[in-house]
Amino acid sequence: MKNPPDPNCIFCKIVAGQIPAKFIYQDDELVVFPDIHPAAPVHLLMVPREHFAHLGDAHARHEALLGRMLFLAPRLAREQGASDGFRVVVNNGPDGGQEIYHLHIHVLGGPRPWKRL
Ligand code: 5GP
Ligand code: ZN
Repeated sequence: MKNPPDPNCIFCKIVAGQIPAKFIYQDDELVVFPDIHPAAPVHLLMVPREHFAHLGDAHARHEALLGRMLFLAPRLAREQGASDGFRVVVNNGPDGGQEIYHLHIHVLGGPRPWKRL
């Protein structure tokens, strides 16, 4: 059983098309769009369509999806112009600096210096 969308969650609203975002990639399980406040020349957010707060709330059924997201990251980074490397970041919980409690992977690339994330 999938988690239902959270009516107060910004990323659930983006997944549902209720808040606009330019999807640079999408499939049955995830969407990818640029961060509204980029911390690097390339700054993508990879967001599962299913709502769950962070890695600590992932279930066994998310294992393949999480692997697939990491596998997809280099392709999307390269396609978006990060030709010389990139970082992936997942903020988890208050001490992890998480602002939006719908799991997402930041993909950061492009020439340095970058803003602090
Ligand atoms: P967190 O700190 O939760 O890992 O990161 C949340 C990220 O979502 C932030 O980098 C922030 O700039 C981004 N963000 C917040 N609201 C929106 C939005 O409405 N649209 C987009 N594209 N990004 C958002
Ligand atoms: Zn959500």
